[in-house]
Amino acid sequence: MSNKINKLVILGGGTAGWMAAAMISKTLTKLDITLVESDQIGTIGVGEATIPSLHFFNDILGLNSTEFTKQTSGTFKLGIQFENWHKQDASYFHGFGSTGLGMWAANFHEYWKRGLDLGISKPFSRYNFEAQAALDNKFAHQANGVNFAYHLDASLYAKMLKQESIKNGVTRIEGMVNQVHTDPMNGNITSLELKDGQKIEGDLFIDCSGFKGLLIDETLKTPFTDWSHWLPMDRAIAVQTKLTNSPAPYTRSIAHHAGWQWRIPLQHRMGNGIVYSSQYMNDDEAKSMLLSSIEGETLTEPRVIKFKTGHRTQLWNKNCIAMGLAGGFIEPLESTAIHIIQQGIMQLIQYFPSNDINELQVAEYNDYMCRDYNEIKDFIILHYCQTEREDSPFWKFCKNMNIPDSLKARMELFKKTGRFVQKRNEIFVDSWLQVMIGQGLVPDVHHPIADELTEPALANFLKQIENDIQAKVQQMPTHGEYLKSISK
Ligand code: FAD
Repeated sequence: MSNKINKLVILGGGTAGWMAAAMISKTLTKLDITLVESDQIGTIGVGEATIPSLHFFNDILGLNSTEFTKQTSGTFKLGIQFENWHKQDASYFHGFGSTGLGMWAANFHEYWKRGLDLGISKPFSRYNFEAQAALDNKFAHQANGVNFAYHLDASLYAKMLKQESIKNGVTRIEGMVNQVHTDPMNGNITSLELKDGQKIEGDLFIDCSGFKGLLIDETLKTPFTDWSHWLPMDRAIAVQTKLTNSPAPYTRSIAHHAGWQWRIPLQHRMGNGIVYSSQYMNDDEAKSMLLSSIEGETLTEPRVIKFKTGHRTQLWNKNCIAMGLAGGFIEPLESTAIHIIQQGIMQLIQYFPSNDINELQVAEYNDYMCRDYNEIKDFIILHYCQTEREDSPFWKFCKNMNIPDSLKARMELFKKTGRFVQKRNEIFVDSWLQVMIGQGLVPDVHHPIADELTEPALANFLKQIENDIQAKVQQMPTHGEYLKSISK
């Protein structure tokens, strides 16, 4: 007997729910898809910075970059400026795209490190095109091979995705789910019941209900892998302000004594927020720190958001897949949450059951997704543990904490040998190098191949890269001019 999945039900109409509805309805057109969302509950209302992988998702949906920027009131993002992380009053830039010019045997940083020992290398980001363009406030799509992402108004993005989904035949139901029915034989979810008694039956359910995880947690009691002992941040406060300057093409991440603050410029406003650990700072102190450091008139009331870092041990459990905040959360330091949603959707489509849900398929999906969460977790911890700061109890904790073995091995390999090994399907590669070096983790040695160049040849090589980047940057319009030109 065929147990084909015919009816898919998505619970939640935030970024996760509508991203899933738009992509699945576009690719699996014969599925009957219903999305349930509650206007009364609403959405989390934050999540405005992305990484370049979003292009892949938008391209499949047929969303043109210029049109997308206009409709989401978006700006272009070339990377993140980290301020006060390695030391107070010091900053470095994590630019999208690779730094310098490497070759098959050795990455650019090996040459850079030899140059550093010889006193001829500039700071690492001088050799990153995106970082230099960002710091010069420049942007253009046309610039050769520019790697960029977006800052966007997530509610406008969800609106675009909703329109796409409805065009593809997705049924939207507004209402509050207050009961979830399961099959007593196998524990699978069978239907969602709304407050008004309406029942929505399905074969497969995607839980995008936000932090509450109504299906994956409250119904299926899926265990949670808790990472708060490594990432003790558990609160954020967000507030929007009027723009006071032309928007910069990068996110600012400014560390403070118990966490950090973000600044994300959109075309019409600035997104501001503070992330902190309640063990080291209370909500009132955080709120006043945030409000005293923002520029421009406030447009919204500051709002405290509580969270716990980690993810559901099984992102796919029985006939339910959790995505977005229902699946897990790692603080937004590297803007990875929308990327993880995208990964969850693309993997689900790749593993989509032909008939019955196969446990091996489910295990593969979970393994893939857990590896993604793990990689991001290690990458985020790196920003905290690799620091010289010891000026507050929070930073003392970070500097001295026990870190995961996987991260320890990666940092040690880099420090002692200069080598960095990319693991299977990792999203961040060059980013690791930029953050490790930016945080002060510089290798002790360089690859012997860097000695193949004479000292003048190495100096010339480094200078040439720097000059080429500066020449390209000079030709670009400012980010503000570029945004104006595409809005016409
Ligand atoms: P939500 O937006 O919370 O949506 C949940 C949906 O479920 C809503 O539609 C709600 O109505 C519905 N729902 C819930 N219960 C019921 C019910 N009983 N009946 C019916 N409907 C129900 N991500 C990034 O990529 N970049 C960032 O810069 C970034 N910054 C962030 C900053 C903070 C402080 C936080 C907390 C998150 C940030 N994120 C960021 C993450 C990002 O906000 C989320 O991943 C994204 O918004 C997806 O949220 P969601 O759709 O899972 O949940």
